[in-house]
Amino acid sequence: MTILVIAEHENGAVAPATLNTVAAAAKIGGDIHVLVAGQNVGGVAEAAAKIAGVAKVLVADNAAYAHQLPENVAPLVAELGKGYSHVLAPATSNGKNILPRVAALLDVDQISEIISVESADTFKRPIYAGNAIATVQSSAAVKVITVRATGFDAVAAEGGSAAVEAVAAAHDAGKSAFVGEELAKSDRPELTAAKIVVSGGRGMQNGDNFKHLYALADKLGAAVGASRAAVDAGFVPNDMQVGQTGKIVAPQLYIAVGISGAIQHLAGMKDSKVIVAINKDEEAPIFQVADYGLVADLFEAIPELEKLV
Ligand SMILES: Cc1cc2nc3c(=O)[nH]c(=O)nc-3n(C[C@H](O)[C@H](O)[C@H](O)COP(=O)(O)OP(=O)(O)OC[C@H]3O[C@@H](n4cnc5c(N)ncnc54)[C@H](O)[C@@H]3O)c2cc1C
Repeated sequence: MTILVIAEHENGAVAPATLNTVAAAAKIGGDIHVLVAGQNVGGVAEAAAKIAGVAKVLVADNAAYAHQLPENVAPLVAELGKGYSHVLAPATSNGKNILPRVAALLDVDQISEIISVESADTFKRPIYAGNAIATVQSSAAVKVITVRATGFDAVAAEGGSAAVEAVAAAHDAGKSAFVGEELAKSDRPELTAAKIVVSGGRGMQNGDNFKHLYALADKLGAAVGASRAAVDAGFVPNDMQVGQTGKIVAPQLYIAVGISGAIQHLAGMKDSKVIVAINKDEEAPIFQVADYGLVADLFEAIPELEKLV
């Protein structure tokens, strides 16, 4: 059994979710190969070769894979994937953009967002916004799987010494071209990788009031998230949304401020180790999942809390 993991990488570095995906591959068992597709990705391949448990790194370094356009990367993965028992990618925007195409090209079902490996062909995945966990058994010749990073503890980024092999295949589907990107810039930790997340909801009332959360977050070294209501109301940009249709986070500490606790929000944060909720409504459902709850007006509680940190 040999497993192909599609490396997630950006700005010349292996993204943390790759390490969680290799951990899922290790649970399946067998040799683990990692594919690095991109342009000028020699450094990424070298870093990937050091990941603990990786036997081989395949590098597809070609202009066709610059910016990892899924129309070009998917045929490459499908071509390589035929020789593997499993193809895994993190369930990130990128992984979710590539793997369904790979599954279609290989004519197999995709198994989405696994959170545990029961055996080489059986996996657990959340359904109904995390309210039920399905156990899925697959008889597909190649199992095409996206991995929810928060379900698996990352393997060590150092310690391995995999062989690096170049892949000559170049697929340029000619269907899409990279035009440009506007990236959100922040000095705070990335939401999905942060150990502490402070999130605000509709209770924040407006975008300006998020300054209270930014001040608290900066003292705590935390990332700042938001509910969809806060995003939809235009308080903050949508890359801050936590939940079913936002980002899935599982930090050591999640502080929910002025968030009611709708199931779609809980779907994105209920695996956090410690949950603190601040809400003026003692009946708010967020208190059902909170380890610590404070029934208070957030505009009094947050400045008080900030003073104490
Ligand atoms: C298909 C679908 C997908 C969705 N995906 C997501 C998702 O990914 N993420 C997400 O978050 N939601 C998602 N939602 C929306 C979700 O159902 C809720 O509408 C949303 O989470 C509510 O956000 P909220 O808790 O900020 O707002 P509200 O439910 O309005 O809650 C605001 C809370 O703030 C409290 N509050 C108000 N003022 C104060 C104050 N001064 N001090 C303290 N507390 C105060 C109130 O008591 C209340 O509990 C989705 C919905 C659907 C249908």
